[in-house]
Amino acid sequence: MKQVRLINGTQKKCQEGHPWVYSTQIDRSLWSDNPDLEPDVSDVTDVVDFRGRYLGTGVYNPVSMLAVRLLTHRHDQVDDDLIRRRVREAIAWRKQGMHSDTDSYRMIFAEADRLPGVIADLFADTLVLQILARGMEQWLDVIVDTLTEELKPANLILQHEEPVRLKEGLPLYRRVCRGQDPGRLIIRENGLSLMIDLSSGQKTGYFLDQKANHAALRPYATGKTVLDCFCYSGGFALNAAFAGAARVTAVDQSEAAIQLARTNGQLNDLQDSIDWITANAFDYLRQAIASRLAYDIIVLDPPAFAKNHAAQHAAIRGYKEINLSAFRLLTPGGILVTHSCSFHMPEDLFLETVLAAARDARLSVRIIDIRRQDFDHPVLGGYPESHYLKSLWLQVLP
Ligand code: SAH
Repeated sequence: MKQVRLINGTQKKCQEGHPWVYSTQIDRSLWSDNPDLEPDVSDVTDVVDFRGRYLGTGVYNPVSMLAVRLLTHRHDQVDDDLIRRRVREAIAWRKQGMHSDTDSYRMIFAEADRLPGVIADLFADTLVLQILARGMEQWLDVIVDTLTEELKPANLILQHEEPVRLKEGLPLYRRVCRGQDPGRLIIRENGLSLMIDLSSGQKTGYFLDQKANHAALRPYATGKTVLDCFCYSGGFALNAAFAGAARVTAVDQSEAAIQLARTNGQLNDLQDSIDWITANAFDYLRQAIASRLAYDIIVLDPPAFAKNHAAQHAAIRGYKEINLSAFRLLTPGGILVTHSCSFHMPEDLFLETVLAAARDARLSVRIIDIRRQDFDHPVLGGYPESHYLKSLWLQVLP
């Protein structure tokens, strides 16, 4: 068995169950003394601490910053059988949480399902698969076969156009493995029909992580005026309108997103109560304040402001600004539903930032809910990166 030894003092996260070994953690002197132990690209390798104690087994990629992606911390045999079991376990978790009025789920959520870099999204009868870790590509056929057996999708598309593949030394391409590439298709989410665009859409085509939060807006929205900022294809806006909101305004800077959202309004016969606006949300919020507009409910769901730890301060300023603007626009008793999808913005820091914005606006708020990504994006113990989406629900006290 090949072996990767960690530098003394860098073993803690692996001991806690973290699935990554950074190239900077590796003690290469082990290999100068024992060249046979050095793994090749994609080899299965054991990882040990500086004393030689077992930490886990994973796949090696000398090109990537994430040099080892661990598949087990418990001496499991890493082979086809393990991969098959992991795919089945991942699917079983979704099957027990599925609702009959939703036909689209993230079936595999990479490291959080102990299948590093492997993402599989089911959109109605089309499965979109991505493998973003080089060492996992050796199991492509095993993964495709198991997914096909378990889910019997009409179409299976390998979406390998994600630029992070380049950092792994992997090529970019798109291939149909089964059926055809439908391009656009209609999915069902909590009883609503949503058009998604697999070819030019964001992520694998749609943000499945917000399904439950979209629906959670319904009980608050009846008869209310609602502003959905960063609406993409309209998830929150459509649910508010479906629940009988008096008026919904939805803003996104992407014209393609707004077109998709407008189509979704029509598909669900909700177009009469929603105004779709192509604009920068920061500008829209500023102008709305200048025009003395007011909303009963505001949803903020911006892209990740902090892509890494160094960007945290700038991110805090960004979150503070939009949340402060939202508070200024809320009616007394109004509700702010605010998100951060950046792992580098932990839940407590995000809450602190949003509460600071409320204080700046001289408002007292009640925290009515703290939510996260939907169940099909599970959170793995020892891997805090898997809890990335924070959803805070606050009410402004009159
Ligand atoms: N709320 C959506 C997901 C939002 S994803 C849902 O529930 O499905 C983030 C969105 O923010 C993207 O659609 C992106 O186009 C948009 N966006 C990014 N920067 C923006 C900006 N400055 N102003 C408005 N929209 C922006």
